[in-house]
Amino acid sequence: MKSFGYTISKGRVIDYDANDHRLENLVLAAEPTLALCIACGCCAATCTAAQHTGFSLRRINVSLRRGETDIIRQEISGCMLCGKCTILCPRGVSTRNIVFTVRKHLSLLDNNAV
Ligand code: SF4
Ligand code: SF4
Repeated sequence: MKSFGYTISKGRVIDYDANDHRLENLVLAAEPTLALCIACGCCAATCTAAQHTGFSLRRINVSLRRGETDIIRQEISGCMLCGKCTILCPRGVSTRNIVFTVRKHLSLLDNNAV
């Protein structure tokens, strides 16, 4: 085959139906304000952990809604639970409680306790 100097990128389709939404449902039941998140990114822009480590609460929230649990599992420990983002969120999302609830339910899911 002739080379044109580039390759076709791998598809990045988000299959909402195939993804695992158990964590999203558990967090929504415990902290319904997750549904108010509009992914504006104010939390990530003001987060001290984000400035130093690349952690993004916006990415956590979006991944939760998509059912992309592996991304959350890799990144959730980056939050220091300081609560700064909770004060600044324009939608009143209880961000710190979302992180706390995600950690709690992730460990329960990993231990098949729910
Ligand atoms: S600041 Fe609030 S609405 Fe914006 S991405 Fe963060 S949690 Fe969502
Ligand atoms: S609670 Fe977590 S996500 Fe929010 S500002 Fe603090 S370190 Fe960042």
